[in-house]
Amino acid sequence: MTRTASCQCRGFRVIVEAEQPNTVTICHCQICQRRTGVPLTCNAYFPKSKVLLEGEHRIYTQNCPEGRKLHKLLLRKFRSLKHPTAIPN
Ligand SMILES: [Zn+2]
Repeated sequence: MTRTASCQCRGFRVIVEAEQPNTVTICHCQICQRRTGVPLTCNAYFPKSKVLLEGEHRIYTQNCPEGRKLHKLLLRKFRSLKHPTAIPN
């Protein structure tokens, strides 16, 4: 199954080739709340090898209080953070 997500201008796309995510979580940490502006988020995690990022971006890494690293994509065009990924320790 192919899943495609994009920003509104379609200048950046995330394409996932996988039947289902490895993990789906609901998070209510302050990092997610600040990033989205809502009380909780639902996050799907796929293997990195199954994800293709198309478009100009940079990866910004944030160390979380609980020890994991949160990788966020910074879109150069809009200077905004999108599509975070997390890698557990
Ligand atoms: Zn969170």
